[in-house]
Amino acid sequence: MNYKAFLIKYAEIGIKGKNRYVFEDALCDRIAEKLAKVADGFTVVREQGRLKVNCPDVYDYDEAIDQMKKVFGVWEICPAVVIEDASWDSLTKGVGDYVEERYGNTHHTFKVEARRSDKSYPITSPQICADMGEYILNRFSEFKVDVHKPEIVLYVEIRNFAYVYSESVKGLGGMPVGANGHAMLLLSGGIDSPVAGYMVSKRGVTIDAVYFHAPPYTSERAKQKVVDLAKLISVYTGPIKLHVVNFTDIQLAIIDKCPRDELTIIMRRYTMRIAEHFAYERKAQALITGESIGQVASQTPQSLIATNAVCTLPVYRPVIAFDKQDIVDIAEKINTYETSIQPYEDCCTIFVAKHPVTKPYLHIIERSEKKLTGVIEELVEKAINETEVIEVSENM
Ligand code: ATP
Ligand code: MG
Repeated sequence: MNYKAFLIKYAEIGIKGKNRYVFEDALCDRIAEKLAKVADGFTVVREQGRLKVNCPDVYDYDEAIDQMKKVFGVWEICPAVVIEDASWDSLTKGVGDYVEERYGNTHHTFKVEARRSDKSYPITSPQICADMGEYILNRFSEFKVDVHKPEIVLYVEIRNFAYVYSESVKGLGGMPVGANGHAMLLLSGGIDSPVAGYMVSKRGVTIDAVYFHAPPYTSERAKQKVVDLAKLISVYTGPIKLHVVNFTDIQLAIIDKCPRDELTIIMRRYTMRIAEHFAYERKAQALITGESIGQVASQTPQSLIATNAVCTLPVYRPVIAFDKQDIVDIAEKINTYETSIQPYEDCCTIFVAKHPVTKPYLHIIERSEKKLTGVIEELVEKAINETEVIEVSENM
């Protein structure tokens, strides 16, 4: 069938009261951006608790569905036939023609579900169900009603126009990107942080990212891997400004001045501080990390206290309570896994101590950090000033 329209059911944004327009507009925009890749001429409009996509005459159906399946906030995508004249004769004919084209007069069980958001429509929803059912039975001798387990549910919705559909494709859920502020993701080349960015963005948050590298100890290829990961998640999150910070001198200073077993924690505290600098610069309301309780020494509860202590913004840690396998499952679903497991070291794995502290005391860490006073300030400033910003998007 050549569908001229899709009805889009959205997830939670239906319940947002006065803010609903903000959410609906963001969702319309995100869907329109994706569909522009498929063909010219798609438009997306609000339609009383749903969105309606108007399609151009010629487009690739599978590609359109595929694009809409990457938009956060989309609950279901329903390819629909629009019946502009909703008078009873026109409505029954329209629904019947849809059934004929989609299913033919072959053996099927069905029921009708009607919904009337235009309450001035003269026929109530239960009556539409009953009368439409009767019309279908008369027109298609092979059809039978089954209200419990029908093969086909014919949805008839009376809105500004009438719509009929019987199929739906599941979307991602979540909220449209742009509806819930902005956050700065600490993106490494690992499995966890791209998943963390994806998960937060799924709640409607736009993201930028910061990556710390340590040339020549880390390679250009390791950096490219992070750019690749940013590009992969930008399919969902939208464009990302990736801040690439040269962290080498800071790391060397920490190695020089601080106890070896505290290296990772102190280093992580500096990554958080610098990430927060860029978060404020980009007007983000939060940081995001891929930390998970107990995964490594730097992620024990005590280590998290020490890392968290330098942050003034909230730190979103969406995978904090996830098992590794659960994170891997999402990484596979969003197509980052294969890239994440490429064997290029990032800076935090280069200078690891043999026996890192697993229970750092904050006051001891703070005391150790004092040894950096007079050296570190300038190094941090230089790292920030020389940071490279790469504009990453799925089209780059
Ligand atoms: P991931 O798989 O996300 O790299 P990980 O299991 O390797 O995480 P850590 O190295 O302890 O764990 O890092 C914890 C979190 O700190 C990461 O999820 C990421 O958010 C951030 N992080 C670690 N290394 C870097 C880096 N080089 N640049 C930016 N952020 C980093
Ligand atoms: Mg890592």
